[in-house]
Amino acid sequence: MNVAVVGAGPAGLIAAEILSAAGHAVTVYERMPSPARKFLMAGRGGLNLTHSEPFESFLTRYGNSASKLKPMLEAFPPSALIDWANGLGQETFIGSSGRVFPKAMKASPMLRAWLQRLSAQGVRLETRHDWRGWNDAGDLQFRNVAGETVSVRADATVLALGGASWPRLGSDGSWVDILRKDGIAIAPLAPANCGVNHAWSDVFRVRHAGEPLKNIALSAGDVQARGEAIVTDYGIEGGAIYALGAALRGGNTKLVIDLRPDMSEAEIAARIAKVRRGQSVTNVLRKALHLAPVAVGFLREAHGVSLPTDPPALAHLVKHAAVTVTGSQPMARAISTAGGVPFDELDGALMLKKRPGVYVVGEMLDWEAPTGGYLLQASFATGAYAAREILARAPSTR
Ligand SMILES: Cc1cc2nc3c(=O)[nH]c(=O)nc-3n(C[C@H](O)[C@H](O)[C@H](O)COP(=O)(O)OP(=O)(O)OC[C@H]3O[C@@H](n4cnc5c(N)ncnc54)[C@H](O)[C@@H]3O)c2cc1C
Repeated sequence: MNVAVVGAGPAGLIAAEILSAAGHAVTVYERMPSPARKFLMAGRGGLNLTHSEPFESFLTRYGNSASKLKPMLEAFPPSALIDWANGLGQETFIGSSGRVFPKAMKASPMLRAWLQRLSAQGVRLETRHDWRGWNDAGDLQFRNVAGETVSVRADATVLALGGASWPRLGSDGSWVDILRKDGIAIAPLAPANCGVNHAWSDVFRVRHAGEPLKNIALSAGDVQARGEAIVTDYGIEGGAIYALGAALRGGNTKLVIDLRPDMSEAEIAARIAKVRRGQSVTNVLRKALHLAPVAVGFLREAHGVSLPTDPPALAHLVKHAAVTVTGSQPMARAISTAGGVPFDELDGALMLKKRPGVYVVGEMLDWEAPTGGYLLQASFATGAYAAREILARAPSTR
């Protein structure tokens, strides 16, 4: 069987690996001059491959899409991804937060070993091939570097074109129009895992941009998260902000921060009352609660320059400091993309109902998850799943 994999990111390459291992002729088409640029970029700050938490809680990170992704994640769970990395000579370790990283931290040694394996299995890689859709005969159409159209007939096609974040790395969501023209509904792409906007006062921005608010609890609507966030020029970013996901998208959303989530309001009020007597509010907050200057500044941003002096009112503010988020950072600065091909458009094998023989995998699919290794895990798991489904229909030639 001739299989075309379109997109040389992790989702496409794992599909190519599984299909070629079974003896099928696999060609990977990639528009960029080299494969897996986003995967390499993901390794720049430490490649967070997956997460070590128990599977049930792991699954909940995919929110509304958890039930859709469950079969894929069960078939290719975190342990399978770790074994796969080990098989490429890349030992992994679990960081203090439960996140799993390769010991090398970077993606480049892993990608090098992976590409060698793919080449040894006979996978052809055609770079500088930009996918443009299908012709009337159903052949894939690519634009090559010379500007020529290359037609490819495939027995099965795996579309692994990624989302639209960091478009300079190759994935820009240009496939959305192609699939929409084909009558396939696409959930609008939106930036995910990115900072959100809030207009700080000049004083706060100049003094505190770049500083972390540590060990906080955040909420937006009914969604809650804990962790750390970093004040930026434009607003706020960081793991705890990303974990609020869709709840912060859309603009004009109230972001509520609890600056002392491990203490009750009554306990905070009692501590404040103990140190009061003639001290400035800043000193009281520092002495009673060990709040950093950035946290005190944040309270002033949320409430107004003069903070309440009454202990219960001040304690309430510490637990419920709210600012209005006016929108998200643009797609170009987002780590991942929400939206994509809805599961309704696919059968249980991840094959497009309206394009038999064409499978969709990775970040192109309509799911989202916070950072923590969940993005790569689902990209690998869906790529592996579609490949095995293709094999189930056209078994091994070996
Ligand atoms: C800065 C950054 C850090 C990240 N860190 C992590 C992390 O530590 N852990 C984690 O889990 N996730 C991380 N991610 C997210 C993760 O990299 C992605 O979720 C993952 O790469 C998605 O895999 P994919 O194969 O679906 O798509 P992609 O990796 O985007 O690959 C898709 C490929 O398709 C190609 N393509 C697109 N359109 C066409 C076309 N028309 N024709 C031909 N080829 C095309 C692209 O060039 C690209 O090579 C990070 C992302 C960024 C931007």
